[in-house]
Amino acid sequence: MSLMADLPTHTIPAGTLKDFVAGMFAKLGCDAAESERIARYLVNANLTGHDSHGVIRAPRYVEDVRSGRTIPGLSVTVVSESATHAVLEGNNGFGQSIAPQAVDIGIAKARKAGMAVVTLRHAAHIGRIGEWGEQAARAGLVAIHFVNVENSLLVAPFGGKQRRFATNPVCIAIPPMDGRPMLLLDMATSVVAEGKVMVAANGGKPVPEGALIGTDGKLSCDPTTLYGPKVPGRPFSARNGDGAIRAFGEHKGSALAFMCEILAGLLTGGGTAGPETKSDRVCNGMLSIYLDPAHFGATDLVQKAMEYTDYVKSSPTAEGIEEVLVPGEPEARNRANREKNGIPLQVDTWEHLCRIGRELGVPIPA
Ligand code: NAD
Repeated sequence: MSLMADLPTHTIPAGTLKDFVAGMFAKLGCDAAESERIARYLVNANLTGHDSHGVIRAPRYVEDVRSGRTIPGLSVTVVSESATHAVLEGNNGFGQSIAPQAVDIGIAKARKAGMAVVTLRHAAHIGRIGEWGEQAARAGLVAIHFVNVENSLLVAPFGGKQRRFATNPVCIAIPPMDGRPMLLLDMATSVVAEGKVMVAANGGKPVPEGALIGTDGKLSCDPTTLYGPKVPGRPFSARNGDGAIRAFGEHKGSALAFMCEILAGLLTGGGTAGPETKSDRVCNGMLSIYLDPAHFGATDLVQKAMEYTDYVKSSPTAEGIEEVLVPGEPEARNRANREKNGIPLQVDTWEHLCRIGRELGVPIPA
């Protein structure tokens, strides 16, 4: 699942990269804990192989703080709650600060009541959603997340050629068993997450044929369909292009993306991806469901899930396929590899980070 294809890369140990990126946010006024947190979650996304949600995002986050779109140092506000639910307001705080607080609230309620539903609105970009599923699963809970991105039109609905949805990820996490990869579904409802188009635009792995659609209705894999022509030194912005990413799985992915808008955008009290507004503030909304397996009589869920995993993996493989995988396995393998061998960053991504590091006066790691 590496996005690097065979392109030149700059490989850097995870810890060094984390300290470098944390230094940038410290210079922007985030306190030490928040700076470390932002960097840790971004680097974690790289470690799992989701470079689209890794440090490639740091330049955008920097711009978001400078423009006031994201506000350092904020906590989640509880708007209303009961034993089994909470309605949370993210206040445009850093997603990496707001989302883990929201998950902690869900964990505490589900541990007491057996289940909890938590809505979160107006969080700045919360990054790789698998992170939040993992947080709850490590606490022994099944976690289900539906996410949307308010004010971020990127994806065309099935049969359409204009943007109507965000890339709207869905995540399901199952409590882990020692020594086995966590079962973790974590995917955008678009053919690719937007960050993967960004990676391709930076010279990384190309997006699949037909992942994008132009205003002429023709399918494309050219990132300029989404971003317009590249402007040196400026982060890519989908606001500069007219085309769209396509929903995955034809009508079914489009239907799921639509429901993410309703659940994570409207039920949370946030907003949908569009219609286009004058605001350039982009926020994540998230509807999360936390379930304690014991509350449902499934005390042996983890054991049974592992037995079922083995059964699924025992399927004979199709032609050209080496092994049947289950959700979460590619991420666990990437992590093991990258923790040992370092994180390969595309040269463009690395140079962009260095440019921002120099601007902010953060020493560039050797
Ligand atoms: P992807 O296409 O790589 O799909 C990842 C999912 O597929 C994982 O659950 C993985 O374990 C599973 N998988 C991969 N290969 C498999 C195989 N052979 N067999 C079984 N399962 C397999 O990921 P994506 O859709 O490009 O999403 C990338 C990241 O982007 C995710 O972490 C997502 O949360 C994030 N994202 C975030 C936002 C946001 O607004 N914050 C928006 C969109 C996406």
